[in-house]
Amino acid sequence: MSQTPLPPCPVCSGACELHDVVDFNKCCEEARGLFLPKLGVPIYYALCDHCGFCFAPELYQWSLKDFSDHIYNADYEAIDPDYLELRPKGNAAMIAANFGAHAQSIRHLDFGGGNGMLSELLAGHGFSSQSYDPFVNPDTNPHALGPFDLITAFEVFEHVPDVNALMISLSLSRAQSGVILFSTTISDGHIEKGRRLDWWYASPRNGHISLFSKASLGLLAQKFDLKFGSFNDYQHAMWSEPPPWAASLFN
Ligand SMILES: [Zn+2]
Repeated sequence: MSQTPLPPCPVCSGACELHDVVDFNKCCEEARGLFLPKLGVPIYYALCDHCGFCFAPELYQWSLKDFSDHIYNADYEAIDPDYLELRPKGNAAMIAANFGAHAQSIRHLDFGGGNGMLSELLAGHGFSSQSYDPFVNPDTNPHALGPFDLITAFEVFEHVPDVNALMISLSLSRAQSGVILFSTTISDGHIEKGRRLDWWYASPRNGHISLFSKASLGLLAQKFDLKFGSFNDYQHAMWSEPPPWAASLFN
C-alpha cells in the first residue's frame, strides 16, 4: 500500500506530512465539556514542515453544498453557540470603541459575516457597513461592493478550504490604504510534530480545516504584498499603509 501524495503547503508550497487523524465530530465545545458521539469518519490533517500550517486535505475538496449539509447545518449552533449573537456583539463593541470616532469616513465590509448582525450593529454606530458571506449571499461578488477601508474577517481564516482564494477576495475588496482585521487562534505551542492533534481548536465539526501558525500568517500576508501583525494570539491585522484613523493600532 502506498500513501496518496499530499499537496504542497497552500501557504508556502513547502513539503507536508500527514500529521494526525481525528473523528469528524471532534468539536470546539469539547473545551467546555461537550463531547459529541464519534461519527466514525476519520479526518486527516497535514502539517507543513516549513511554516507550520496545518490543514485537512480531504475537506479542501468539498463543495459549498457539502459544507452546508455536513457542517453549517441546523446542528451548527450547538457546537458554536457564540456564532449568532455573542461574537458579533463583542466584535461590534470592539470596532466601535477603536474606530467609532471615524465611523463616518470608514467603509466597512464584514467578510464571512453570517447573518449580518455585526454590520447592522455597526450601522447603528454610524459606519457604512456591509456584510458578505458565501453561504448567505452566494450570488454576491464582494469585490463589486467595495473598495473598503476596513475589512473584518472574524473566525473566517480557519474555515476556508482555499486560503489563497480568500486572500485574493480580501485583497480585491480592500481600498489602497484599507486594513484587514481578522481573528483566528494561532497554533503555536498547540500543534507540534510528534504530538497528537489534541488542540480544541482543531475541530472538523466546527469547520476548522485551516490552522495557522504565526509564521504561516506572516508568509501568507507577504505573498500578497501585505504587512502582518498580531495584537495577541487571536486578533491580527494585514495592511499596506495604515490609514490615519488606524495609525494608533500600528505603532
Ligand atoms: Zn507552509
